[in-house]
Amino acid sequence: MVAVSRAVIDEITAHATSEPDQEVCGVLGGKNGRIELAYRARNVATTPKTRFDFHPRDFMDIGDELDDAGMDLSGFYHSHIDTSPYPSRTDVANSNPEMYPAAIYFICSLKHQPPSIRAFRYDEDVHLREEPIEIV
Ligand SMILES: [Zn+2]
Repeated sequence: MVAVSRAVIDEITAHATSEPDQEVCGVLGGKNGRIELAYRARNVATTPKTRFDFHPRDFMDIGDELDDAGMDLSGFYHSHIDTSPYPSRTDVANSNPEMYPAAIYFICSLKHQPPSIRAFRYDEDVHLREEPIEIV
């Protein structure tokens, strides 16, 4: 179960739908086990229709903003423009469970309307598993 504010779900959806021709990405900030903020980052992947890479400067700036806000880095989000909201092989290959073992990965799919969001986290055996989303 992942607890997240309605504002974060709305922000991820707004970001994804604002750029329907490419994947968008961002970082999630949280406190006390609840995700409360979504920070947009630029996607600098060379093939942004099907993958994402965080702009390194944005990633560092967001880290500073999280520190200033007293938030933890709780996870990441990105969009899929025409596939379902499940991790692709590339997503799994590019994730970093060693560095972020507890991170939540949100995926917002624009394949159908309205957009749908699912959340995933690595379990103790380092398998990516879906987590039910609780909006609080
Ligand atoms: Zn993906």
